[in-house]
Amino acid sequence: MMGAVIFRNALVLTMDDTHTVLPGTDVLIVDERIAEIGVGLTAPEGAQEIDATGGILMPGMVDTHRHMWQTAMRGYGADWTLTQYFVWYYLESGKHFRPEDIHAGNVLAAWEALDAGVTTTVDWSHGLQTTQHADAAADALGAVPGRFVLAYGNIQQGPWEWSAAPEFRDFVSRRITGNDLLGFQMAFDVTGDPTFPEKAAFEVARDLGVPVTTHAGVWGATNDDGIRLMHEHGFMTPQTVYVHAATLAPDSYHRIAATGGSVSVSTESEQSAGQGYPPTWALREHGIPVSLSMDTSVWWSGDLFSAMRTTLGADRSRMHMQAHERNETVTHVHLRAEQVVDWATRGGSRALGLDDRIGSVQTGKKADVVLLKNDASPVMFPILNPYGHVAFQAQRGDVHTVVVNGRIVKQDGRLVGFDAAKVRGDVERTVEHLIAVMGPEAWEKGMNPDVPETKVTDNPYTYTDWDAGSAQ
Ligand SMILES: [Zn+2]
Repeated sequence: MMGAVIFRNALVLTMDDTHTVLPGTDVLIVDERIAEIGVGLTAPEGAQEIDATGGILMPGMVDTHRHMWQTAMRGYGADWTLTQYFVWYYLESGKHFRPEDIHAGNVLAAWEALDAGVTTTVDWSHGLQTTQHADAAADALGAVPGRFVLAYGNIQQGPWEWSAAPEFRDFVSRRITGNDLLGFQMAFDVTGDPTFPEKAAFEVARDLGVPVTTHAGVWGATNDDGIRLMHEHGFMTPQTVYVHAATLAPDSYHRIAATGGSVSVSTESEQSAGQGYPPTWALREHGIPVSLSMDTSVWWSGDLFSAMRTTLGADRSRMHMQAHERNETVTHVHLRAEQVVDWATRGGSRALGLDDRIGSVQTGKKADVVLLKNDASPVMFPILNPYGHVAFQAQRGDVHTVVVNGRIVKQDGRLVGFDAAKVRGDVERTVEHLIAVMGPEAWEKGMNPDVPETKVTDNPYTYTDWDAGSAQ
């Protein structure tokens, strides 16, 4: 599938530094890179031509935080809170995942990402109980033609334990070899314990020269103490990715901003699970860079269209609600569709230190691009406000063509090389295994948490008998 590909007559959202929009433009890809952008380009012989008329060509999207192994349980936790999630994965059942279960979930999540135009995904892989699990995760990512960053973690041990194991170092040297399609981070959380046991894991990360990604500012789990400890020990760097950062004081935001790190906002997650209100408003006030993420398909999709949409909605609804409490009206919104499209593309490439290679449609960059086009859809015209169209109108089904590193991985709305039967069979075996070890009753109960009682408010209009008069 390598060689030359030319998109003809696209509306190109370059997402370059000035957000140049190019109507009626051709984009030529040769091998791994974007070779030329212009009108009426001459294609090399044998180039594959894709008619992009009526479509939007944009950079591939970047998801900076996804627990891909959990996709094997797609939708299971739709009605969970964070508490139920922690009990299920951290305390009770996460340990039941075998290496093949990690593999099955990762493969499914990886294809799901490509299908939705997400060309780079951080696999926040915190189910790696052994390096056999880690090998399975890496094998899965290598088996799907996307760009991934393996963020290595293990919720069954303290990070100071797993990161000190010789097998972990051995895994890194065996599997992380500078392959452009597989990056690496260390993924762990900082509890705020004043003895700062996580220090040893940060030292390993520093020694290996790899970034750390951490769930920070998660209500009831991580807080300002963790940020302060990281800062005081010199572990906050421009490469650090703070996930959620939703329940933090201004002091913590100042520390993040001053050290150049970025925040991965998972709005769908924060709204449903309860890490805290999606913090885009606070990040704006503190000048902190943002990327977007979907967190986990045990609740949500792996689809950054949803992230863009919910992030706009959460930011704006908070503004309106607070204004109404002051009896005021918001006449202009801060957060724009253009901004969330930037966060879904450049925001991610910057957060991951990949901005010199991906994140925009520019000559010389790696060819990770997405064509949104769906001639049969009443939603794909008119395209008047292209950023608004991407954020509020388009969806996964409108992802026509996806190219990663110059290779077409989705074409004419269909994934290339996706063996659905094989992937489905592997995921079914994981589900069967989990039901078998937990027992069918616990499995059902886990999916259906109790509903708190709703008390219907007293209604003053029911105090009088409305038809008493007619009865006379
Ligand atoms: Zn997470």
